[in-house]
Amino acid sequence: MSRNSITQAIVLKTYRIGEIHKGVTLLTKNTGIINAIAHGAWKIKSRLRAHTQLFNYVRVYLYYNPVKQSYKITDIESLRLCDMIVKSLKKYYIVSICAEIILKSFGGGESVKEMFFLFLSVLQTLGRICDDEADFILIQFFWRFLLITGHRPDFTHCHHCGTSLPTTSGIYSIKGIPGFVCTSCKHPGAIQLNSGMIKYLENTEQLPITQSLCYKIAKESETILKEVLSAIIETCIETPLQSLKQQFKEYV
Ligand SMILES: [Zn+2]
Repeated sequence: MSRNSITQAIVLKTYRIGEIHKGVTLLTKNTGIINAIAHGAWKIKSRLRAHTQLFNYVRVYLYYNPVKQSYKITDIESLRLCDMIVKSLKKYYIVSICAEIILKSFGGGESVKEMFFLFLSVLQTLGRICDDEADFILIQFFWRFLLITGHRPDFTHCHHCGTSLPTTSGIYSIKGIPGFVCTSCKHPGAIQLNSGMIKYLENTEQLPITQSLCYKIAKESETILKEVLSAIIETCIETPLQSLKQQFKEYV
């Protein structure tokens, strides 16, 4: 393996190492998630400082030390800054949820490249839409994440008993079950999905994210889809999402 490499990446997380060094967790285009150190990046005058900001889309020059098994950022340039995102609390929150899901699913496992382009598309689209449309992007991320990782729930058969699900109504989601169930299998606390929500997901899942914004659903349906899909993701990745718990009601 070559010790020097250049790759496109998105900054998923940053942390402090000692006084002035910055640890940077990157979602890279080809190799998934890696941790790298940016020496001196907390210094005010450091060139690396601005380019290693959270959610920046960058071209990064890496040096791999095979003895320490660690990456060092030797240079970095921003391909897209995150300034449009961080100016909006809502958009920042949405991107934080996406980043947490990517981190906790280890970059989507084998689907690294698709995950990279999905997250990039989320960042680019959020950068040019208003706050009111931002929730649709979160729903699209949730759904596409399930699709990419092979966890997309089936609309046609009950996850529990296997019976055919109706196309009009009578499709339910139960917390802890990574699929939809029928009327007979539902129990108290189940959330009902209507045909509009199902149609929305089916009609948009193959479109580029920007074009998916042409389809809209009612505010109440939006809220239900966010709740249902995030719960399915938590079940699939087998861990609760902290960013969701803390601020779900407040901002989304
Ligand atoms: Zn059933």
